[in-house]
Amino acid sequence: MDCSNLIFLVVAAGRGQRAGAGIPKQYRRIAGKTVLGRTFRALLDACPEAPIQTVIHPDDRALYDAAVSESGVAGSLLPPVPGGDTRQASVLAGLESASCSNKNIVLIHDAARCFASTDLIARIAGSAATFGAAVPVLPVTDALKNISGGKVRGDVDRAELASVQTPQGFLLASILEAHRKAAEAGRTDFHDDAAVALWAGMPVHTIIGDPANIKLTTPEDFTLAELRQLAGLADIRTGTGFDVHAFGPGDRVWLGGIEIVHDQGLTGHSDADVALHALTDALLGAIGAGDIGAHFPPNDPKWRGAASDIFLREAARLVAGRRGMIAHVDLTIICEAPKIGPHREAMRKRIAEILEISEDRVSLKATTTEKLGFTGRREGIAAQAAATVRLPAGDDL
Ligand code: MG
Repeated sequence: MDCSNLIFLVVAAGRGQRAGAGIPKQYRRIAGKTVLGRTFRALLDACPEAPIQTVIHPDDRALYDAAVSESGVAGSLLPPVPGGDTRQASVLAGLESASCSNKNIVLIHDAARCFASTDLIARIAGSAATFGAAVPVLPVTDALKNISGGKVRGDVDRAELASVQTPQGFLLASILEAHRKAAEAGRTDFHDDAAVALWAGMPVHTIIGDPANIKLTTPEDFTLAELRQLAGLADIRTGTGFDVHAFGPGDRVWLGGIEIVHDQGLTGHSDADVALHALTDALLGAIGAGDIGAHFPPNDPKWRGAASDIFLREAARLVAGRRGMIAHVDLTIICEAPKIGPHREAMRKRIAEILEISEDRVSLKATTTEKLGFTGRREGIAAQAAATVRLPAGDDL
């Protein structure tokens, strides 16, 4: 599909707490990934080069930054704009900002619909370009009744009714004008952008939506979505890794992805981050992808002094390439010094960031060898790691 004229507008300013968990639903997780991060990924899978304008609630800035940082999509995102009191006001704020992008077509999407398929996005983009305004609709399958006072008053003909999804696609200039007019007229009661467009006199074309493109709303929606995602990742594998680096001259060590001031350094070809090396091998082991030396030969001058997050990130990329998920990593650092305790949380945070997973999926422990052996004699640091990875079931059947 041609994405050169396209910009996405993601509406993520809602408080959406009906789903439980005490935070807005777009920041909740499904199988380890935030809803918002999944939504960004779904849009970028369809259109990698299209910019994304997001509207957020000002109170959610920290949640937003964390979701973006772990989803690895920051490069495609325009700075978020603060939303208004209603969805309609939030969309207007987003459109005003998106209009600086020089794109013609905008796809307005609810953050809580993270299962939008590439096919649906492509069809909406195509229809929006052809017709100026297009929305995905689904036929109503249940019988519909008029009710009042707890009693059925009559039937409703469902043949003329449809439920409406997002993304909804529009000519950017036209929908921006429609939203401005609605705001000027004091109309704040529109439920979606198709309603604003229609009120402003724009004909709105329909295409067939996707039943899988659900809007996550209730706790049950989240439970079902989580089960569905995990059920597809039923091939569970474990890998282990082990590494040692010797102390040498220096005044700091790299360990667990952070720099720690110490009275010695660690010697090695790269930055000698023994913890990240063990972890990289554990992940490679879990997917049967060889070891760190095979991917990053130690005699290759390219890796001299390299920051080891490159190695770990590559292992995570290989897992993602298998459409897998890193379920958990567990790391043990073995040394007499430096003391790991004061740095444990910073290391967990950094590793979670590199692997793009939540911190509760990263375990980090430390131990000594009671002054026995090379670690006990403070000659070096050892690290061992285990990684649990979930892969799509049946991929190799
Ligand atoms: Mg090593």
